[in-house]
Amino acid sequence: MISAYIALGSNISPRLSRLQTAGKLLSREGDVDRAAPVYRSAPYGVEDQPAFLNTAVRLKTHLSPVALLDFVKAIETQVGRQQRYRWGPREIDLDIIFYGQEIVQQPRLTIPHADYKNRRFVLQPLADIEPAFIPPDAGQPLSELLQLCPDSLPLKLYRKNWMIDGI
Ligand code: ADP
Ligand code: MG
Repeated sequence: MISAYIALGSNISPRLSRLQTAGKLLSREGDVDRAAPVYRSAPYGVEDQPAFLNTAVRLKTHLSPVALLDFVKAIETQVGRQQRYRWGPREIDLDIIFYGQEIVQQPRLTIPHADYKNRRFVLQPLADIEPAFIPPDAGQPLSELLQLCPDSLPLKLYRKNWMIDGI
């Protein structure tokens, strides 16, 4: 089994229940053994849109990276994601940030996820899950990457325990 680290975000109501449904569906293909708190964050990129709820989970899974991408895309559809413009509002976004220590560079899939080091709303929940994890493209653990993160958009703790079946 590989530990995959998946970032979840939503800024279209009902945000928390979309995260909860996605978390539950993820556990169909493995074991969600850690979940970060949910944070409320100001929108990134395109700023004229509702605030996001962001979190991250660790999934122990047998799926290959590409099979995992297909799986998370299917969950997005199931949770109601509509196609919109880039960086626009989304019912749900599931991004694979890490897949163990693997580096994947394919047209459809980049792991580690591009730009994760610059986004506090991604780094913070990942660091909550496993502060000592050293990503394959970094020489430092997540706790240190978080301290170096240039993104100053505020994050606010929104809900500590949110997974439907608990962890
Ligand atoms: P965003 O970049 O805002 O998350 P989307 O969720 O619409 O945008 O994803 C666009 C595409 O990014 C997906 O269809 C997928 O093929 C690609 N992609 C590349 N690497 C990853 C990754 N690590 N996790 C999720 N999607 C990825
Ligand atoms: Mg995405």
